[in-house]
Amino acid sequence: MKMYDTPQPVERYLNVELECDCGRTHFAPIKAINISSGALESLPGYVAEYGYAKPYILCDKITFEIAGKRCEELLKKAGFQPSVLIIRHMGFDEATLGEIVLNKPDDCDLMIGVGTGSITDMLRFSSFKLGLPCFTVATGAPMDGFSASVGIMNVNNLKATMPAHSTEVIIGDTDILKSAPYRMTIAGFADLIGKLNALDDWHLGAMINGDHYCKKIDELVQAYVDDILKKTDKIKARDPEAIGDVMNALLLTGATISLYGNSRPISGGEHHMSHYWEVLGEQRGKQYAMHGEQVAVGTVMALSVVEELSRLQPDFEKAREAAKQFDYDAWEANIRRTYGNAADAIVDLEKSSGKNDPVRWLQRLEVIEEKWPEIQGMLKKVYPAQELRRLLKDLGCPCDPKDIGITESVLKDTFMVCKETRNRYTCYQLAWDLDVISEISDKIIAELKQKNAI
Ligand SMILES: [Zn+2]
Ligand SMILES: [Zn+2]
Repeated sequence: MKMYDTPQPVERYLNVELECDCGRTHFAPIKAINISSGALESLPGYVAEYGYAKPYILCDKITFEIAGKRCEELLKKAGFQPSVLIIRHMGFDEATLGEIVLNKPDDCDLMIGVGTGSITDMLRFSSFKLGLPCFTVATGAPMDGFSASVGIMNVNNLKATMPAHSTEVIIGDTDILKSAPYRMTIAGFADLIGKLNALDDWHLGAMINGDHYCKKIDELVQAYVDDILKKTDKIKARDPEAIGDVMNALLLTGATISLYGNSRPISGGEHHMSHYWEVLGEQRGKQYAMHGEQVAVGTVMALSVVEELSRLQPDFEKAREAAKQFDYDAWEANIRRTYGNAADAIVDLEKSSGKNDPVRWLQRLEVIEEKWPEIQGMLKKVYPAQELRRLLKDLGCPCDPKDIGITESVLKDTFMVCKETRNRYTCYQLAWDLDVISEISDKIIAELKQKNAI
């Protein structure tokens, strides 16, 4: 089937091969999504429709009360033989995995995860390892990982992205979602807002780095984000329908990873900032904030960088000089200082990707100089950072570094090195290429100080 010309409801992208003009076939291996009032009641129907009989339900103490118990009742009433595990090893690590395997009935043929991030990540990974299909029942919508095809868990005390599979069915009962903590819903909203920058970073990558680009996926993600931006008042009022729309948009953006083949359309510099804070948080034994909240702050910061770039008159000679004088040893020393015990992975990534290699850097500068009017025109059109800051503040979402405990020195390091977490062209790589990342970040930090925002 041909890829749709205009954005469609999320259901139309599921489990269907869509041939696209961009040269790729877009495919998201999810069979059904039901986000509606009373959606939980549909669970037995899906279990029957896809031919399962003995589901194994994973939840924790809290999600058992919120929805797990009801899932069990509904399934029993419909004649299935469900078993339930209320997870006690809450580290979402090797012990949790062991607990899931130990308690798994030998004859179960389906796993159902009831919860949000950690439980559903563990579900996708453990069911994949056990060779069993899985369904997800969401009890909140704090991020867009539900429809992902990977699973994140702690391995040897480090967060690891594990190969996993997509969930076949995702159920989000808006009667349950509306009573999820407001903070969780807003974090989900913020993860969506991050796409405003991610899509711009993708454009930069396509223009400067020759990265693959799909106009239809771009327009699809943008349409869902635009729609959510129109509903902020309703989200603030906890309107169930609007919360359902947030969940739907998160499922669409999450499914985009499968549709497109990687997370390029939905994750850019704003996520790299959040990744860097996660690395620091792990080393310091704390979490700065929820993923979506970190992305919110990262998006305001990244859009601020974009605004500075949009006003810049680049000195290409100075930038070329910086490329020629690139000192790898000094770069590596700085990576070891800023990334601590995670530095090896960053150094390895640089060795394999060569994103800072002077030859490639100089080649990019040629492209940037040639296309500068076009690039600057694009940068001028991005969502204004201060408008986003006001919007997030109004919703009660963290928007300043101070709100999530990021200090001035951490922020400065973040601006300078967050781009090293991934080999992906972003506004941070552009600021680096033009040799202005240090001065731009100093200016943004000075403005944040004036506002008492750091
Ligand atoms: Zn395409
Ligand atoms: Zn995210």
